Amino acid sequence: MGYFGKIFSGIYNLSLGLWTTLKYLPGRSITIQYPKERMEMFEKSRGMVVLLSDKETGKLNCNACLLCQKSCPVAAITIKQEKNEETKKRFPSRFDVDTLICCFCGLCEEACNFDAIKLAPMYEFATTDKASLMFDMDKLQEIGRDVKYTPRKKRAKKKVAAKSAPKKDDAAAERKAEPTTQKIAQQIPEPDSKPADTTDKNPDKPENPETKQ
Ligand code: SF4
Ligand code: SF4
Repeated sequence: MGYFGKIFSGIYNLSLGLWTTLKYLPGRSITIQYPKERMEMFEKSRGMVVLLSDKETGKLNCNACLLCQKSCPVAAITIKQEKNEETKKRFPSRFDVDTLICCFCGLCEEACNFDAIKLAPMYEFATTDKASLMFDMDKLQEIGRDVKYTPRKKRAKKKVAAKSAPKKDDAAAERKAEPTTQKIAQQIPEPDSKPADTTDKNPDKPENPETKQ
């Protein structure tokens, strides 16, 4: 490529880049100016692991059943279970989550039947201090205090309602099946109508003399 060819190629590529910029300039911006702006995450997004508390009493929902600890694939959860001798109820005296090794799989939340643990839609916990990524019970409860969540029973009800609702395809199939049902109904004889003559009319068959008399 000659000298002028290289200049032309440079101008052409520069114009392509400028054209791409101009093309997207008038449209809606997709990116945000972090940290001045922050994206609002969905309730189900998997961020920081937190412990949920009862909104009225302020007590942790956790009853130290250990299901989340057992379901964690990386052993990031450590719970110490204790029992109240008067009420005979279990409670956690220690609940640690090692966020450094947590892979945010959400299995702990899935395993919990008491709406006690959740992956909150929070993603800003990067730090240079490794030790601060080991969250203890107080910290987990504190972070989880204002986290919104749909109780498990409500979620289950919604699922059942969604499953029992007739699907569009089913409704269309029912509508298609209707004329067939009507046709079958038309073919069924009325109770007053005469039964069909089932006498054997084969001319080759000899007649029964008793019947003839
Ligand atoms: S999100 Fe997954 S890895 Fe993290 S604590 Fe829960 S079960 Fe363990
Ligand atoms: S957070 Fe849920 S699953 Fe884990 S110990 Fe507490 S009640 Fe059990």
